[in-house]
Amino acid sequence: DDTDLAVLEGADDAGALDEDEARPVVAVVGRPNVGKSTLVNRVLGRREAVVQDVPGVTRDRVSYPVEWAGRRFTLVDTGGWDAKVQGLAAQVAEQAEVAVELADAVVLVVDATVGATAVDEAVVRMLRRSGRPVVLVANKVDDARGEADAAALWSLGLGEPYPVSALHGRGSGDMLDAVLRALPEQTAVGRPDPAGVRRVALVGRPNVGKSSMLNALVGSERVVVDDVAGTTRDPVDELVELGGRTWRFVDTAGIRRKHRSSEGADYYAGLRTQAAIERAEVAVVLVDAAQVLTEQDVRVVQGAVDAGRAVVLAVNKWDLVDDERRRYLERELETELVQVPWAPRVNVSARTGRHLDRLVPAMERALTSWETRVPTGRLNALIAEIVAAHPHPVRGGKQPRILYATQAGVRPPTFVLFTTGFLEAGYRRFVERRLRETFGFEGSPIEVNVRARE
Ligand code: GDP
Ligand code: GDP
Repeated sequence: DDTDLAVLEGADDAGALDEDEARPVVAVVGRPNVGKSTLVNRVLGRREAVVQDVPGVTRDRVSYPVEWAGRRFTLVDTGGWDAKVQGLAAQVAEQAEVAVELADAVVLVVDATVGATAVDEAVVRMLRRSGRPVVLVANKVDDARGEADAAALWSLGLGEPYPVSALHGRGSGDMLDAVLRALPEQTAVGRPDPAGVRRVALVGRPNVGKSSMLNALVGSERVVVDDVAGTTRDPVDELVELGGRTWRFVDTAGIRRKHRSSEGADYYAGLRTQAAIERAEVAVVLVDAAQVLTEQDVRVVQGAVDAGRAVVLAVNKWDLVDDERRRYLERELETELVQVPWAPRVNVSARTGRHLDRLVPAMERALTSWETRVPTGRLNALIAEIVAAHPHPVRGGKQPRILYATQAGVRPPTFVLFTTGFLEAGYRRFVERRLRETFGFEGSPIEVNVRARE
């Protein structure tokens, strides 16, 4: 079972688990086929971001942790959407706009073998207006003969073009050095707030009622106008005082902005959703009580769980639910949202205000769970009890045993089981269930890793 080992490599680095996710964000933009995803793969050193050969197919994952020369940042691949040639300029412009809102620095990729096109020039104008630092990559410079093509891109007025071959790796180190130089000391995007300010993302598919809920919450409570000491006045966020605490609602600009009905709008909505989740500590996932749950709802929930964020489920439009719908809805929630049986749920109506006051206590509970540290003694008392009462089944004459356990980190709680031999997935899930039964963790995912001592 080598997935255990892979996970554990990360868990070994206990510092990384406890560290706040305030890494600067770098977004990669550019026309289709200039080599963005090849470049992302090159930087990651592995083929994780899938290079799509089928036009129009979107990639699911968009952001990746990167470490270069001892600095960590998050790389966002905005290139998942391949526009048809028609409407290309609009698509690339929207992509660049999203990138600028979400990122501390932008990597603009141009195909040096093609040279600067009108679309590239339009994007450059937009990026320059934004004031965000930009690193210009002249890609597909596979050998020295291509250097002249790269130099021609000085004409874009973004300074030195970095000649790179994403395919072969040529020049990518110099480019990464330039990216580090371009990054601000402090990230504006994911910067930690002063103690007590918590970051929350309202997420869910279009029309579930996110902006109605935001309006209802902001309308009834005080919006923090003055700077809370040390907070950034990020225009895409809103600071709101609720239940005696300041909450940073991340990417409210994305919530309030109504979708342009362009191709790729769903892709960008998904991109923003994931970026908001990654910046938040707790995700409030809204679903529409009056509508059948869709795959899109499930995907948003999964995104929050995968990102390791605390989760609250808000079933909105409860004013539209009658008895019959209610019975059906309960079954749907139970069968569709199997990933989050532990998430606190509130049945609310952004329209009537019903039970909106239950939202903050639910977020608080989820965040408390997310930061829970279980004393080692209590943890190992449980492990001893499990080993005695429910030992691992014998497999091939061997019986793996849990020797002891430790909590390697919080946000979310992460445990390491030290064992003799690998545990079966079913047994690991059983241990996870017992951890939840014993310690709660309402509203938080937990991670259980295994280290086998042979
Ligand atoms: P994206 O649409 O911008 O993400 O572009 P892709 O990464 O999918 O690359 C588009 C095509 O260009 C693929 O066929 C790549 O193999 C090719 N490509 C990417 N980088 C290079 C490079 O540095 N040199 C050469 N020769 N081809 C490249
Ligand atoms: P968003 O796309 O998730 O931001 O959704 P909106 O807040 O724009 O809401 C979409 C539609 O649902 C609008 O017509 C809202 O008036 C309506 N809506 C939102 N919340 C409720 C609710 O609690 N009850 C009812 N009946 N309608 C709601």
